[in-house]
Amino acid sequence: MTKNGMFDGTIKALEGLTKIGKISVSIQDDEEDYFDRECPSEDCLFQFKILSEDWKNKVSDEAVHCPNCGHVADSDKWWTKEQIEHAKQVALAQISSRIFGALRKDAENWNRNQPKNSFISMTIKVDNTPRQISLPPAVIDPMRLKITCPKCDCHYAVIGAAYFCPACGHNSAEQQFRLSLNGIRQSLNALDDVRAAISDKDVLKNTILLIVENGLQNAVTAFQRCVEAKYCEVDSTTKIRRNAFQNLAEGSQIWKDVIGKGYDEFISADDLFLLKRAFQQRHLLAHTQGIVDENYLVKTNDQRYKIGQRIVVKTEEVLACLQLVEKLVEAIILECKSKN
Ligand SMILES: [Zn+2]
Ligand SMILES: [Zn+2]
Repeated sequence: MTKNGMFDGTIKALEGLTKIGKISVSIQDDEEDYFDRECPSEDCLFQFKILSEDWKNKVSDEAVHCPNCGHVADSDKWWTKEQIEHAKQVALAQISSRIFGALRKDAENWNRNQPKNSFISMTIKVDNTPRQISLPPAVIDPMRLKITCPKCDCHYAVIGAAYFCPACGHNSAEQQFRLSLNGIRQSLNALDDVRAAISDKDVLKNTILLIVENGLQNAVTAFQRCVEAKYCEVDSTTKIRRNAFQNLAEGSQIWKDVIGKGYDEFISADDLFLLKRAFQQRHLLAHTQGIVDENYLVKTNDQRYKIGQRIVVKTEEVLACLQLVEKLVEAIILECKSKN
């Protein structure tokens, strides 16, 4: 039995595919004409929105800035995973309708004398990064912080924190610090909406954990970037260690050297103690996935935990941390002003 030509139709259809050339897929804006974007840097993958009109008119083809990490890449690198997935589905649907049609015909011919139970199935894997929060829009919207760049007037929106304008890269340390803190507070305030929107208990627990812990991490980063920028304004000659301002003791000493005052002159010893603990907890979240190690216990003397346990960050602790970093930053800004 020779079945030469069994797949003739399919082969023809496959050959035809090479002639399709481009398949165009349109990506929709949201109701407010904002457009989803994602940082292409593997370490960041930050998602944000930008007003469609500004994307077309204000953002250059050569340089788009990530609002979170400052990564710069040309404008066709900023597709979100969801958009790429959508484009793949649309393209696959077009291709597969041709192929499946041809396959079906070939199979019908072949099956004329065969039992009829053949299957063709396709699976598409969706690659999800663990750090992104995927929530229903009703929950996301109150968390979203809308920002207008004071320099180029570009409109964009983020969840949590932003430091750079995507169009011009402008970074005003103080303004961004305040915006970031507002964004974190907005996210924490939306926790009740999150509770109302998610019925699955495990998903809810993880989502809240993620929002609260992101809040702490973003608060420390916002503080660090702001005081770093302030420091560069008053002393542009002395080189300081990268991330020096993530360490409160080290940061305090740096300020003592340039403005004559350390953190202990701006907030009480108790508050400084609490803030140090919060910073150490952020360190655990960033480096040990929140698992308590010896270094943490030595530095904080936190009696609530033993080595190997996972920390539990509370909303109130993050809110207190926000208040304290705000106090420190305001004091530093004042001191820097009086020094100039
Ligand atoms: Zn980025
Ligand atoms: Zn700008």
